[in-house]
Amino acid sequence: MSTLDELGLDGVVDVHVHPLSMIGEKELLRELEKAKVRKCVLLALDVNPAELDDEGKARAFVEEMFNAGIWDLNALEQAREMLKLARTPNERVSELVSRHPGLFLGFGSVDPRKPLGQVEETLRRLEDAGFRGLKLIPTLQFFCPGQVKKALKKILRFCERSGMVVMFHTGCDPGPWEAPDLSKCANPALLRPFIRSFGKVNFILAHAGSYSVRIPGIWFEEALELASSFSNVWLDTAAVPYVITDRKFLRALKARGLMGRVLFGSDYPVFVVGISDVVREILASVEMTDEEKARVLCLNACELLGFG
Ligand SMILES: [Zn+2]
Repeated sequence: MSTLDELGLDGVVDVHVHPLSMIGEKELLRELEKAKVRKCVLLALDVNPAELDDEGKARAFVEEMFNAGIWDLNALEQAREMLKLARTPNERVSELVSRHPGLFLGFGSVDPRKPLGQVEETLRRLEDAGFRGLKLIPTLQFFCPGQVKKALKKILRFCERSGMVVMFHTGCDPGPWEAPDLSKCANPALLRPFIRSFGKVNFILAHAGSYSVRIPGIWFEEALELASSFSNVWLDTAAVPYVITDRKFLRALKARGLMGRVLFGSDYPVFVVGISDVVREILASVEMTDEEKARVLCLNACELLGFG
């Protein structure tokens, strides 16, 4: 068991926290303090809670669920609930960042299916408000990268110019999205042409393509492949700490020389485990060297996000 002190760190950087409306500011601050998080990325999620209230869209989604093997009649209701829970307005993130500018960095969110003019307008506002990155989530935003090429190119050109980082959700998602077919648009391999075209934009593949209750590590190989081919690809450990604590995954990362681009993320409070428990698990690993632990828990994120 190493300690942060022994690693020469005064704290941890967590690149993946959701300030959901269900969690209060005090509770969030307490959790971060307990885990010694000294910098933290707060993610907005521009998802539409009314998306599945539209009869046509609901019908299409139910059909898609059937095709993905979900016959549960409550699944539609579950999906609606998830969208409501997940929605995190840019304003909420902005407010928290402005109250704790030393602790928080904001990643904004934009729905790439919206008309291009609206996407552009949102990007302008995010830049003015001092956001440092963008979060996109193919599952809950109901898009496939190849279907919204124009908007994604616009978003990535904007990131290139502004220096913002882009984080894509990769892997499955809770609720009905645990069915791999329903989450297939979140397969990181679909991002290849965008990553190749935008070599100056840093991409974080959230969950390292791996999140899935049914098939843990579902698209880890695909994520690994991208990170090995392109130096602008980073992987976060949110909800999948096993990619660095389980020997099989860790060895694959080490073999490809990727430990300098793995970022600690907790996904708090989506998976209710405390952030400090996950940090302890990493500190206790016997497979990782102290240098690797320091990189993952802090130094890699400092390098990517530009703070010491
Ligand atoms: Zn998340």
